[in-house]
Amino acid sequence: MAGADCSVGLNGVVLGVARLKFMSAGALLGPLALVIALSLVGAGCAETQEAPSRPRSSDAAEHSSREAITGVAAHLRALQEIANRHDGTRAAGTPGDRASADYIAERLSRAGYDVTRQRIRFPYYRILQAPKIQRTSGALPGGRRSIRPLQFTRGGSVEGPVRRAGRGCTDAETAGLRRGDVALVRRGECTFLEKGRRAQTAGAAALLVAGHPGDPLIDATLGRPGPAIPVLFLAHDTAKVLTTGERLRISLRTRSEMRASENVLADAPAATSRRIAMLGAHLDSAPAGAGLNDNGSGVAAALDIAERLAAEDNPPRVRFGFWAAEELGLIGSRRYVERLGRSERRAVTSYLNLDMVGSPHPRPTVYASDSKPAAARLERLLLRHLRKEGISARVGSASKGSDHLPFARAGIPVAGLFTGAGRPADPCYHRRCDTLSNVNVGMTRAMADTARRALVGIARD
Ligand SMILES: [Zn+2]
Repeated sequence: MAGADCSVGLNGVVLGVARLKFMSAGALLGPLALVIALSLVGAGCAETQEAPSRPRSSDAAEHSSREAITGVAAHLRALQEIANRHDGTRAAGTPGDRASADYIAERLSRAGYDVTRQRIRFPYYRILQAPKIQRTSGALPGGRRSIRPLQFTRGGSVEGPVRRAGRGCTDAETAGLRRGDVALVRRGECTFLEKGRRAQTAGAAALLVAGHPGDPLIDATLGRPGPAIPVLFLAHDTAKVLTTGERLRISLRTRSEMRASENVLADAPAATSRRIAMLGAHLDSAPAGAGLNDNGSGVAAALDIAERLAAEDNPPRVRFGFWAAEELGLIGSRRYVERLGRSERRAVTSYLNLDMVGSPHPRPTVYASDSKPAAARLERLLLRHLRKEGISARVGSASKGSDHLPFARAGIPVAGLFTGAGRPADPCYHRRCDTLSNVNVGMTRAMADTARRALVGIARD
């Protein structure tokens, strides 16, 4: 795709013209690069496909040359290179995730922000090889369709005799278990985690939990990594044919462990106002790929906004949040809001979320929490500035799952920008093909400009 080639072509060109207040401009500028940057503009290195058909804004020249080192395209390229260096992913708890947080923190502190890195620990789970259960005395009724590993179970390859242990919730129920047994218990009474712990303590090599009669095969969970033995859910009809003492061979491979990631927070130094307008974007990708639209586009836009506001003489009091582990359940943003004290929470006047703002076939959407004046104002500001960008957007609901939800639940007015996930907007959603060439850089830039203006508008209220 021409657009993408164009941006890739920029590789190796380093320079910008914008003079950032917090940064020592000298470190950035060089006449040669300025000439190169301007000649590129002349060559019409325009945005990628389906970019908004808006006339290029008056600061287009400054935009493009500045893009060479800062700005949306440069940040997207940097995130792609990070993924390239780290097995093609920036998923939470991976080296690519850590490198993304390092990049963001480095850019923000270089721009002069007070940067805080908030450590987040979370349970990490991945199935590496599907489970197999073999009977020494014939096939397992239902085969693989009758077994399901519990989320966060350990893997393993074990063989042992079946022994029933009631529901596996009391010492009396597990007293009959022997070392190396495959414990078989019924659902109910206590948590799967407790059943797993008790079976392990009693010496079992694996635990099978039988469903109730008529139960579908459920996605059960231990809640977090725990017992060091494999724990699997078994359909009721399959469990009932197993006989005490018959030997089973069980194998599956998983990665189940506690991992760490970081929220990266940035405050403008010495900003006096006690009222803080926040803007945020999650920094992790889905495990399958580099996550350049989801959510490299939001990160690139938020970084661009932060660097541009740093250049202002009297920057508004804003805080930027780059959230960890959003793809695993809004973990970073939830922890951030939970850790806010009452007065800190009250000081946050609004939260603006950027998640997927560069979809290749964009469906621009503005969403805001209902009935909050500040949220309604943000929504109006976003729609107005999008119109100025020549972009018509629809108004969507704020109920959809992204990092604005923990803020909304805490009573903080929220709004956000979104350009669509899945077909037709982004067929590469959560897939390996969500790379740099999947991002609509022009739309991302327009969304960044829109969000910046709305943020300044709400912060100056
Ligand atoms: Zn996302």
